[in-house]
Amino acid sequence: MNALAATSRNFKQAAKLLGLDSKLEKSLLIPFREIKVECTIPKDDGTLASYVGFRVQHDNARGPMKGGIRYHHEVDPDEVNALAQLMTWKTAVANIPYGGAKGGIGCSPGDLSISELERLTRVFTQKIHDLIGIHTDVPAPDMGTNAQTMAWMLDEYSKFHGYSPAVVTGKPVDLGGSLGRDAATGRGVLFATEALLAEHGKGIAGQRFVIQGFGNVGSWAAQLITEAGGKVIAISDVTGAIKNSNGLDIPELVKHSAEKRGIKGFAGGDAVDPSSLLIEDCDVLVPAALGGVINKDNANDIKAKYIIEAANHPTDPEADEILAKKGVLILPDILANSGGVTVSYFEWVQNIQGFMWDEEKVNRELRTYIARAFRDTKDMCRAHHCDLRMGAFTLGVNRVARATVLRGWEA
Ligand code: GLU
Repeated sequence: MNALAATSRNFKQAAKLLGLDSKLEKSLLIPFREIKVECTIPKDDGTLASYVGFRVQHDNARGPMKGGIRYHHEVDPDEVNALAQLMTWKTAVANIPYGGAKGGIGCSPGDLSISELERLTRVFTQKIHDLIGIHTDVPAPDMGTNAQTMAWMLDEYSKFHGYSPAVVTGKPVDLGGSLGRDAATGRGVLFATEALLAEHGKGIAGQRFVIQGFGNVGSWAAQLITEAGGKVIAISDVTGAIKNSNGLDIPELVKHSAEKRGIKGFAGGDAVDPSSLLIEDCDVLVPAALGGVINKDNANDIKAKYIIEAANHPTDPEADEILAKKGVLILPDILANSGGVTVSYFEWVQNIQGFMWDEEKVNRELRTYIARAFRDTKDMCRAHHCDLRMGAFTLGVNRVARATVLRGWEA
């Protein structure tokens, strides 16, 4: 099922549980604004290359729209739309004063040089600069982008509007980025996992984890889970998958991956087929890469007891149903990976106040926000007799619906 169909289906189920008026439901589903721009750059060899960039601004009832910019060859309007919608519910679940947006450029960032990436980012920013802003829409990194991408966006935006560090988050610390932002999504995954396991009288220590993805989210999650005593027994990335039943040496793997640009060839584990990673025997499965990877074709074979959705939309609704019957508990993306956007909020607040927090404060506040989002989600699960995904969706949708009604529709 495509990402937009899946996300909209989850939204509609939540709207039904909440008994939302059908007109309000429709208005919440349709994006506020969809932007599509052509970005042509000269390549290093002098030839021209054209790319299509998107920014979908889904909803701003609770505050400025917020969400990442993705560089990936599979970026398409439907996917960006779905991810923008997920951001609206995610910021509401985290209870930070934002709406939702998402952007992307259909490109293969690994095939572009640094200067080509810089030119592409600057052209894209030129095309959308008058539609983003500190109090309208605040981009951040996502798959295929990083702090450097945000530095270029900030610089290009500032040529039009004057120096405005709060217009993007996930910036380098030297340009007003927040301490702790780089690790924030992974750290949030750790805190959310702790909250879920604690409900069952368990801790991270001694649990066997399988992680799909070793980018920003997966690698930080693996490091922090290991530090907390968890055993990461298998990991994959685009170059391959490796397994070690005694636990992988994550600090060594981080070094290897930085040197060799991928985990392939790591001596501290056995190479396994990446397509069987998700069905490895483990306690906790952490998809931290692409969407739609857990679907009706593999859900029956999943052996994990818990799935923590570090990626956005890794599980199809059909797989949700199969896994529920098997008794697998799924901590949904809009809660499990909300640590990134939560620390983006802390960064924005620091920029606006012109006052920097130390890393300890960032991490302490992040734990408080994740713990609160988990408690609020559980309250909705009890109120609506539903699973964690619907608990989080009803929580987010209800907050956005209330803000929308309070603001009114008078033209
Ligand atoms: N791209 C991240 C996400 O999907 C972070 C977004 C942000 O910080 O605005 O949640």
